[in-house]
Amino acid sequence: MGDQIEQSDDCIFCKITRGEIPSIKVAENDVAFAFMDINPIAPGHTLVIPKHHAENIYVTPDHASAAAMAMVSRVAAAVERAVQPEGINILQANGPGAKQSVFHTHFHIIPRSATDGLTMNWELQSGDMAEIEKVAEKIRAELAGG
Ligand code: AMP
Ligand code: ZN
Repeated sequence: MGDQIEQSDDCIFCKITRGEIPSIKVAENDVAFAFMDINPIAPGHTLVIPKHHAENIYVTPDHASAAAMAMVSRVAAAVERAVQPEGINILQANGPGAKQSVFHTHFHIIPRSATDGLTMNWELQSGDMAEIEKVAEKIRAELAGG
């Protein structure tokens, strides 16, 4: 039985996987895609998505969750080596109460320090694209190195 990848025409993250909207990509395979969050709450803040479109984790098929999670592990390890934070949280939001703003299942990889004062909800602040690209390059190098 094949695991069908279904996409949406007008979803921003589906468009990113198709290259119709630019992104600062760090990893891609047939079933998952990883790119830098353009409003990072910390240097190295990365998003991992299944290529399969599903609005939230409740309706994401197992094959898509598994595809994304396998990439989360690999990219989180690369972020850890590239940025060397004190720790990393993996966050996944569903619904307005959880502040989900993009309705295509995604996993945040968030570098942390014990004193960053980060709470679960934060306001979006535009990032410095050159800085984001620099960190992305380090993560790509770590991914390429195994
Ligand atoms: P959430 O609030 O959990 O739905 O997270 C959505 C995230 O997607 C936010 O952190 C945004 O900064 C991020 N985001 C939105 N549009 C883009 C984009 N075009 N490229 C990269 N990140 C994006
Ligand atoms: Zn989508």
